[in-house]
Amino acid sequence: MPLIPLLPIFHRLSREHFGGSLVKESKPILGLRWSDGRLRKTAGLYRRTSRVFGNQRAEIVLSKPLLELLPLSAIESTLCHEMIHAWIDLVLNKDEGHGPTFRAQMEVINATQQNFQVSIRHKFPTPKNPPKWLAICPICGIQAPYQRRVPQAACKKCCNKHNDGKWHESFLLTYVPSRCGV
Ligand SMILES: [Zn+2]
Ligand SMILES: [Zn+2]
Repeated sequence: MPLIPLLPIFHRLSREHFGGSLVKESKPILGLRWSDGRLRKTAGLYRRTSRVFGNQRAEIVLSKPLLELLPLSAIESTLCHEMIHAWIDLVLNKDEGHGPTFRAQMEVINATQQNFQVSIRHKFPTPKNPPKWLAICPICGIQAPYQRRVPQAACKKCCNKHNDGKWHESFLLTYVPSRCGV
């Protein structure tokens, strides 16, 4: 399963919530990437880097192991949180962490759209044991992490939508080994 590309989400969030200020000559003013499998303690981070690529002197890194199995809104929320840090640091040239500017911007973003909510702490589960299996619905394609395979489990959403909420074998989940933890 390929990871979602971050660049289009970054451009949209920059336009919608930061007046385009995090993009210069149609490129982000900082680096943007998924982590390798090791970033497990936090869903995302913003940091100054010593490496300089063009005018990029900072980067946002999102945790592949923590976010890859979560819905898009979790990625948007984490990316947007880190973009507020980047905006305060690189655009406003302030040094404040989760201070009043951060909170004010977070509240404006949360009030002006419904797709995701930014929070001060990333509130995503940090599983001790990464899920062993990924359950996939063959009909709607929804994916969910599982520690063990549940025989005969069917997609609840599809049973509700297509079969009055009753179990049907057409919606049996299939299991593939999760890449999480590799
Ligand atoms: Zn933060
Ligand atoms: Zn389904």
